[in-house]
Amino acid sequence: MLRLTEIILPLSTSQDDIENTLRAAACSRLGIAPEALRALTIFRRSYDARKRSAITLTYSVDVEVADEAAVLKRVAGLRTVMPTPPMEYQYVGHAPADLPESRRPVVIGFGPCGLFAALILAQMGFRPIILERGRVVRERTKDTWGLWRKNILQPESNVQFGEGGAGTFSDGKLSTQVKDPKHYGRKVLQEFVAADAPPEILYVSKPHIGTFRLVKMIEQMRAQIAALGGEFRFESRVDDIEIEDGRVRGVRLAGGEFIAASHVVLAVGHSARDTFRMLHKRGVFMEAKPFSLGFRIEHPQSLIDRARFGPSAGHPVLGAADYKLVHHAGNGRAVYSFCMCPGGTVVAAASEPGGVVTNGMSQYSRNERNANAGIVVGIEPKDFPGIEDSPLAGIDFQRHWEKRAYELGGGDYSAPAQLVGDFLAGRPSTALGSVTPSYKPGVTLTDLSSSLPDYAIAAIREALPAFERQIKGFSMHDAVLTGVETRTSSPLRITRRDDFQSMNTLGLFPAGEGAGYAGGIMSAAIDGMKVAEAVALHLLGRDDIT
Ligand code: FAD
Repeated sequence: MLRLTEIILPLSTSQDDIENTLRAAACSRLGIAPEALRALTIFRRSYDARKRSAITLTYSVDVEVADEAAVLKRVAGLRTVMPTPPMEYQYVGHAPADLPESRRPVVIGFGPCGLFAALILAQMGFRPIILERGRVVRERTKDTWGLWRKNILQPESNVQFGEGGAGTFSDGKLSTQVKDPKHYGRKVLQEFVAADAPPEILYVSKPHIGTFRLVKMIEQMRAQIAALGGEFRFESRVDDIEIEDGRVRGVRLAGGEFIAASHVVLAVGHSARDTFRMLHKRGVFMEAKPFSLGFRIEHPQSLIDRARFGPSAGHPVLGAADYKLVHHAGNGRAVYSFCMCPGGTVVAAASEPGGVVTNGMSQYSRNERNANAGIVVGIEPKDFPGIEDSPLAGIDFQRHWEKRAYELGGGDYSAPAQLVGDFLAGRPSTALGSVTPSYKPGVTLTDLSSSLPDYAIAAIREALPAFERQIKGFSMHDAVLTGVETRTSSPLRITRRDDFQSMNTLGLFPAGEGAGYAGGIMSAAIDGMKVAEAVALHLLGRDDIT
């Protein structure tokens, strides 16, 4: 198979017949007749919108040709043709058929990290036991809507907790910057497609899935793990961990049941504050790490589309436009856009009573009226009061601002909000303008200046006009800020050794976003796979991790 890169087509190219257009381009580049091209698949499609009046699509394709050696010889020296590199994920080993019951690994948490740790372990024959504090995804969906529609928060079943983890009600963006010589990312996408994700996620440059599809996919992936011998225990919160001589002996559930285990994957996400506290009490090594705080901002999606795509705004191949912005403020703080959701909604993402937390989600179609993104400010452990006494100080800091937002919102899970024009002018908002905020259960218009630390407010006030220079209209008066965004990443790291075990607790494999080793669905899933490999190698007595 050969890979051809940099096939550049105008955006106006009809997608109805795209395969034939690409076939013609491939034949022309390779200098072969149409009959010599046996098969073509799209490997990657991206767009170049730097010149808005002439947006182009860039394709990479894989082709099978009649006489590959001769073709390769003819195009030798052509940078844009090469043999297709191998992309298959390779398992590190397989469990013996007689794996004793006592050696079954336990996976705590069934978010993207726990899901992929469990899936890979199951595919290697290790029959993992999965413990998830929240409810199965269908029940969880009802509970989550309970907060959005009826102001009722279920502390064990919400946007953060339950089958599928934090990203289930999300935009389902699947991009990652992780270096990936072992093709973990492609394996993740292939498993998603096998579970009914849109096949295009395998080749578009900014893949996304959207909430409704994610829910169905998670059910299918659970069924696959169960069919391979995995065992699921939902509504099973791990409340304690037994450690003897620096080695894990098992975990205890909230109801008191003890499950003996020598290998425990800890994939609890960044909101498992009670679990972090328990682990700290048991002496598991952890340290504070930086995260970010800020607001969600909402604009009309049409404004972002126009700014990004000019006259091609609304083109179906481009979809709803996104953005990525960074500003280095004069007070030394970095302000950046976070988890941008084109054509989506701002969601209530709290998991603790008496707190308000924002985040964003969308459906696959991304056709809601507003664009939203976090506008967040980087903070460091030295900013957390009490950091000298405890690595958990970042959690208290998050909680402080979540409670403040709850109060400012009126104490019923409504979120405090302010128009950008009023925020910049330093006066409270009293009426909405042209942008209707999407946050449910609703917003309370107010003055957000006391909802974050002063340095964060100052940095955001400086950043919004700077972002206007990149996206015309970004600091428009009527854009809405909704607070507060606090769960951008874990406030701590449960540090691990090179072999993926905890620094001081053997058999405990901290993983994913909660342990500070991932940020986002893809990187959490990939980390879950790496940890599954480490567990397998350990169980097989082959700790040859590189
Ligand atoms: P989580 O997904 O947080 O999963 C942890 C799981 O562990 C949870 O299900 C929890 O219930 C369970 N758990 C916790 N404690 C215990 C315990 N003691 N016992 C048993 N179970 C426990 N990322 C993207 O890449 N793209 C997006 O578009 C995107 N949008 C998002 C939108 C929203 C609304 C949210 C909240 C997040 C979004 N994210 C997105 C971030 C992404 O969801 C996370 O990075 C990812 O889910 C982290 O995966 P994880 O498996 O490490 O942890």
